[in-house]
Amino acid sequence: MSSGRSSTSTRTSSVTRPMPSVHNTPNVTTLGRAIQAGSMNIGPTNTTVRSRPISGIRQASVDRSHISTRNIPTTTLSSSQRRISNDSTRSRLSNQNQFAAATDQRSTISDYSERRTSNASNSSTLASNSNDDASSSNAKVSSIDRQNSHSPSPIDSKLKSGGLTGLQNLGNTCFMNSVLQCLSNTKPLLLFCLQENLADCLNTSSTSVMRGILMREYANLIRKMWTSSENHSVASPSAFKNTVGRFAPRFLGYAQQDSQEFLRYLLQGLNEDVSRVQRKPSPMKIDEKAEERMKEKDRAKFSWERCLLFDNSRIVDIFAGQLKSTLECSHCQYQSITFDMFWDLSIPLPRSKSSSSVQECIQLFMSKEELDGDEKPMCAKCKQKRRCTKKFSIQKCPQILVLHLKRFSQARGRTKLNTYVDFPVNNLKLNDLMDVMSESYEGPAPTYNLFGISNHSGTAYSGHYIAQCKHPFTNQWHEFNDSSVHSLNEKQQIISSNAYVLFYERNN
Ligand SMILES: [Zn+2]
Repeated sequence: MSSGRSSTSTRTSSVTRPMPSVHNTPNVTTLGRAIQAGSMNIGPTNTTVRSRPISGIRQASVDRSHISTRNIPTTTLSSSQRRISNDSTRSRLSNQNQFAAATDQRSTISDYSERRTSNASNSSTLASNSNDDASSSNAKVSSIDRQNSHSPSPIDSKLKSGGLTGLQNLGNTCFMNSVLQCLSNTKPLLLFCLQENLADCLNTSSTSVMRGILMREYANLIRKMWTSSENHSVASPSAFKNTVGRFAPRFLGYAQQDSQEFLRYLLQGLNEDVSRVQRKPSPMKIDEKAEERMKEKDRAKFSWERCLLFDNSRIVDIFAGQLKSTLECSHCQYQSITFDMFWDLSIPLPRSKSSSSVQECIQLFMSKEELDGDEKPMCAKCKQKRRCTKKFSIQKCPQILVLHLKRFSQARGRTKLNTYVDFPVNNLKLNDLMDVMSESYEGPAPTYNLFGISNHSGTAYSGHYIAQCKHPFTNQWHEFNDSSVHSLNEKQQIISSNAYVLFYERNN
């Protein structure tokens, strides 16, 4: 998902096969009929299943742990996942110019699509004639966005009583249940899963390891959760979990896992499974010099379109945003600018404080940071290692903004920060934050309303996950604690130091 930068970098890409038609809002009448008839399951896709495991988590979100909070190396990645992630970074770095490489080594925007294509070795550029493809995908994206801000439809009333279904704990599966409940209450994703022709959107081509099976199981579970006629019923996620385990063996057992890592895996797996890219993109060349001469906003757009050649799906429409990264040489002031797609933002918590706010954490993530000493990157102008500053900013705001509060660290053994982080339930205003939006972002930044929280209580070694979610059709908050579901008074009960992953929906 990140932008290949140099003329020697490699991307094999292109969308050539006609994209499957994606209807973005369910056909209300037929959906209603299907709900009534209880015929919501999607049958098996007619495809041969390869049990090729997905090796570890593909990181497409941006994590600057080793940048702004050097002493809080993030994560709960296992050593094998870290290795995979590092390998992928290395293989990509070998193809990039040194300046950018030095940046990336530190920012570890290691992402799946890069890894998927990093084996191909010949030089690549986005041929100018692929522009048309790219802009048409873009047009598609904006028309989807428009459709999503739809006014309440008759289906909304049918669904008002849905979704309040608990999920059975299969043995330490609360991490999965809390993520599933947050996603179940993600309105655009829910509507996508409920749409009648979802089976037509499944990507059974070789660009998806799962060949549509993961999405099918996911949608079957969501449909179960939304069409149960009983109040406070409980669904078993075991078929879904088994499917996840088939492709990602690390989720096969019953060990406690990290909910944000699971979320990332799931979103990227679902992205593949409904990808509009059904043929491996062909090689393209990137003319870096020409790109540098472009206006920044055009360059950002160009980079986004290039990302869409690899990752383009309803899941991208809903969750993906674009982050700008600026590396500036303190000697010659040369700026190296790169753009990357992100699924979520892993934001650091201030270390020295017992309480903070999500706005402060976002600003910390976006703040300028100095790279010096061993971390000095190679400046492309000076042709030597220079002290530089590095800064992130948001170039494109996603429809659903997922914020991961980095509570877990492996600094001195595995530890958890229990910092109380305050966050707005309504109207998170990115515009009010200093230096968070890219200078070339046009217009006022959107505001966001919270609709889901994956909460973690306990320690880094033993704990429990629950979800708190706002019902997309009644706006009532509920707490989902595995099989039990109860309603909440938002003001008193939602904000706590257990908040771990926050789900925000864009208002405008
Ligand atoms: Zn320089």
